[in-house]
Amino acid sequence: MGAAGCSRPTAGEGGTLNSPSQQQGNLLGSDETYAQVLIDRAARDVDRSFTYKIPPLLTERITIGSRVLVPFGPQKLVGDVVGFTDQAPPVKLKSLIKLLDEQPLFDIEQLDLARWVAQRYCCRLREALRLVTPPGVSRSRFTTVAVTDEGRQIELAQLSGAPRQSQIFDLLHSSGGEENLDNLVQRVQQTADGKLSRSAVLAAVHGLEEKGLVERRRGLTRPTAGRRTQQVAQLCGEGRDWAEVAEQLSASATRQAEVIRALMESDSVIPVAKLSRSAVAALADKGIVRVSEQRIYRIPDEPGLGNVDPEALPPTAAQGAILQRVKQALHAGRHEALLVHGVTASGKTEVYLQAIEAAQAEGRSAIVLVPEIALTPQMVGRFRARFGDSLALLHSALSAGERYDEWERVGRGEADIVIGARSAIFAPCRNLGIVVVDEEHEHAYKQESAPRYLATAVAAERVRRSNAVLLMGSATPSVEAYWRACHEDGLSLTTLPERIDSRPFPPVQIIDLRTETLMGKGGSFSQMMLEAIADRLERGEQTILFLNRRGFSTFVMCRDCGDVLRCPDCTVSLTYHHAGRRMRCHHCDYSLPVPDLCSNCEGYDIGFHGLGTERVTDQIEREFEAATVARMDRDTVSRKGAHGDILRSFARGEADILVGTQMIAKGLDLANVTLVGVLNADVGLHTPDFRAAERTFQLLTQVAGRAGRAEKPGEVLVQTYNPDHYAIVTAQKHDYVAFYELEIRARRHNLYPPFVELANLVFQDEDEEDALNTARQAEVCLQDMGVFFKKGEVQFLGPAPAPLHKLRGRYRYQMLLKATDMEHLNQTVRDLMETLADTGSTQVVYDVEPMDMM
Ligand SMILES: [Zn+2]
Ligand SMILES: [Zn+2]
Repeated sequence: MGAAGCSRPTAGEGGTLNSPSQQQGNLLGSDETYAQVLIDRAARDVDRSFTYKIPPLLTERITIGSRVLVPFGPQKLVGDVVGFTDQAPPVKLKSLIKLLDEQPLFDIEQLDLARWVAQRYCCRLREALRLVTPPGVSRSRFTTVAVTDEGRQIELAQLSGAPRQSQIFDLLHSSGGEENLDNLVQRVQQTADGKLSRSAVLAAVHGLEEKGLVERRRGLTRPTAGRRTQQVAQLCGEGRDWAEVAEQLSASATRQAEVIRALMESDSVIPVAKLSRSAVAALADKGIVRVSEQRIYRIPDEPGLGNVDPEALPPTAAQGAILQRVKQALHAGRHEALLVHGVTASGKTEVYLQAIEAAQAEGRSAIVLVPEIALTPQMVGRFRARFGDSLALLHSALSAGERYDEWERVGRGEADIVIGARSAIFAPCRNLGIVVVDEEHEHAYKQESAPRYLATAVAAERVRRSNAVLLMGSATPSVEAYWRACHEDGLSLTTLPERIDSRPFPPVQIIDLRTETLMGKGGSFSQMMLEAIADRLERGEQTILFLNRRGFSTFVMCRDCGDVLRCPDCTVSLTYHHAGRRMRCHHCDYSLPVPDLCSNCEGYDIGFHGLGTERVTDQIEREFEAATVARMDRDTVSRKGAHGDILRSFARGEADILVGTQMIAKGLDLANVTLVGVLNADVGLHTPDFRAAERTFQLLTQVAGRAGRAEKPGEVLVQTYNPDHYAIVTAQKHDYVAFYELEIRARRHNLYPPFVELANLVFQDEDEEDALNTARQAEVCLQDMGVFFKKGEVQFLGPAPAPLHKLRGRYRYQMLLKATDMEHLNQTVRDLMETLADTGSTQVVYDVEPMDMM
């Protein structure tokens, strides 16, 4: 397949463009070695490396991942060294200017993984490298002032007529000829006791520029997060009688005496911030106290749910069999990938814990991925109890400083187990032994912004490269993973078929809403549901009510003309939230008070329809006045830590009923919950997404799994309008394999994964016609490339309006690419990206391995 009519990017104006075949590993040592530098600039056509000579003084210090300053046309730009070559291109080469950081930002393994991500997800290497570099070292603009060649020739005395310029010149010399402009201004101001304005300093710099003695240089670098240190104090001089010194000082300098006594009592150093600063300074002057810098780590707070027993449990036979395979592979240093299909409450977490202990015993590190760390406090608690300080936490809710520190602890081997959300798969673990992916099927493993990687796929690739073990667990594995495991496609199937202590699965009753009369205050509950809840309240047991829609009512409609209120920027109806009494769009920030009159017919009868968690909570509270009801959805957990608070409170029995969205579907393990009620199982079943049935099955199974996890037996009631749908029937029977067999047939018939690889192309524009035109243009390009509608090894569907036709003010059209293998798909997407390089105002999203089809 060619790319007819494609415009290829051309070499930039700077160094010399490399072809990929020239890129090699570190060949330092030879005088003939040149560095290949990836320039840090936004334009797409510079996402390749350029060759530079290495100044002799730097040959020993430059390595893969070094951040360097290079000449690029008339500019000086920051770049990263991504390779070395001993073959000089047939043009005159420039030298790189300087090394910006002694510490390389990534190593060859991380670079290779980033290259793989860029290749598979059709993103720029620069974007992929962001994933493997420490968080918080994102680049920001900076300006430096440097002494020019001319400036180096002159004597300081020649500037004697201009004292300020002379001072700046002197400062520049003392810092090696170059200094950050902001630092320089500060230093000059400090010497003037703050009596000097910034503009006065800048004027002096400008004066030096005019004389050609200094120049300003601009670049992009300097981390926003970095190491944090603190000043600490300690007593100095062995064998002195500190008590006596303190005694002597206590009359004249009380606070100095106090500092000495505090330091005597302390076994180690004390942060200066906790002592009297002036007293410490005075003591330091007298040589009694030494002040030094100490590195501090910002250790993140973490959610936890009560006490966890740190002891390992003896494995069951099924757990033991899986652990055996893990240990053998680890011991032999062999790559092995296992899918653990373990029913809910079958003890998957214990398998993870012991598998990681086995890796530790072999001196190897581990990464544990969870879909969303805030939603799995119990699991994090168990890992912390078992592994203590060797555990590092990485997720997006940490501050930049906390993430930087955790990243560094991992990179230095001080923490050898990482637990985190999807981006933790890029953690700089040394000697990686095992990667655990919990709830493998979760869509949170897909990043929905560039680079749009799928963490489970990256995990598989990373363990393959490290000869490590991949352990992916789920009660409801993705159909793709299960199919691969059944066909031994680089993945083996293992099972945990029974619940711990052979507890029975909770019986699931289907309630057919087509024939059932709904009752209760507000009319959302069947008779059976109400009786079951009343029964639990009487016995002092707890109930979970699940509804995957937040808000009060899911749409607001005029009863006179049937007009539904919609978001003006998105093609969705507005949801009414009783708290705040506003209608909100769940896709953008738009919100609006409820109007008194219908804007369409000026009628008064505006009604609230559809059921959200807020309304269910209200109805339940009115129905069971004595009961305490808690609610958990995105609205109630927006505050940091709120999720854990609600769970802890529910776990302590402070509420009888918990109403929630899918947030309550996972990770919740509470002994006193004996009833789970699903109020409307059909939400999501009919969305135009080939995974709709799979998602419904997964959600029902996960929610049902929350019941009866301890001694008390549980019960699940499911209200549905589709009691015969296979996703609901098989979930009722807790029969994953039956679901899988029906689902895989549909996938094969309709040509969806795992039988093809997918890329979803979305064309979005504020102007609907422009969006459609660009999509049509893409269609023509594909046809020119030999890719046709529903035909051939690579084929496409569309263009068609996306299900969410308008989102945040932009119209959206979609095309779906299907290919028999990933390589063909990647090539097609890349060729198309080059052909469609300029799409005007239309933004094109290229999503390989898409999860979001809307
Ligand atoms: Zn109306
Ligand atoms: Zn909206």
